[in-house]
Amino acid sequence: MPYTKRFDGRKFDETRKIEAEVGVIPNADGSAMFCFGDTKAIAAVYGPRTLYPQHLQDPTRGRLKCIYDMLSFSVTERKRPGPSRRSIEISMVTEKALNPALKLEKFPNSAVNLYIMVIQANAGTRTAGINAASLALAHAGLPMTDLVSSVSVGKIGGKICVDLTKDEEDYKEKDEKDTTDIPFAIMPRNGKVTLLQLDGKITSKELKEALQTAKKVCNQIYEVQKKVLQEALNK
Ligand code: ADP
Repeated sequence: MPYTKRFDGRKFDETRKIEAEVGVIPNADGSAMFCFGDTKAIAAVYGPRTLYPQHLQDPTRGRLKCIYDMLSFSVTERKRPGPSRRSIEISMVTEKALNPALKLEKFPNSAVNLYIMVIQANAGTRTAGINAASLALAHAGLPMTDLVSSVSVGKIGGKICVDLTKDEEDYKEKDEKDTTDIPFAIMPRNGKVTLLQLDGKITSKELKEALQTAKKVCNQIYEVQKKVLQEALNK
């Protein structure tokens, strides 16, 4: 059956309900929460502070160290606590997605520690985590050239859709999985793509459409992020 109507009735280019807030962890130097519907991520930033062990220090640039994880009961089947291949991969791609926006050359020999915890997961956790992290880094007052905004764009039964749920990620046509998932992160001011992962199959024409859709939706997320930061500054 072609995917003509989304399971939750959303438009094809519509995200789930976005909620965002900064300052959710008072002890952190910067913190934020970001939700795509029932996918909820919190991010905490500590630093910059001197990086140890000393041999990892870089005299030209500070280092962003990200740890992403999910709470055991953030998913329906209990997730084994502790790091996994998946969490190590997501921590690494998150660092790479955020690094281009950070002016870490101002903090030689230092580390900025970023912790992302997914407290509820229904797909799109890396994108929600990047949005929360970008807000937390700005909330920590770190010099940045831009925020980073992130969303996943998918192809379900031939249709380009934004911000897939787990049901959509698992969509099957004729008993075969027919979903492609592409998480994007974009620096909206210059349009630079800092994350693009591809799980599934897609034509170059569809990939262009997915990128255009991601840019449009990231601009909407960017507006929410700026508003939340502005409101926190005004308080
Ligand atoms: P993302 O969360 O960025 O979409 P994945 O595609 O790896 O990343 O995961 C998709 C979804 O699968 C997650 O958001 C979560 O809902 C579910 N999931 C991931 N890992 C587990 C796990 N260990 N147990 C149960 N569900 C999981």
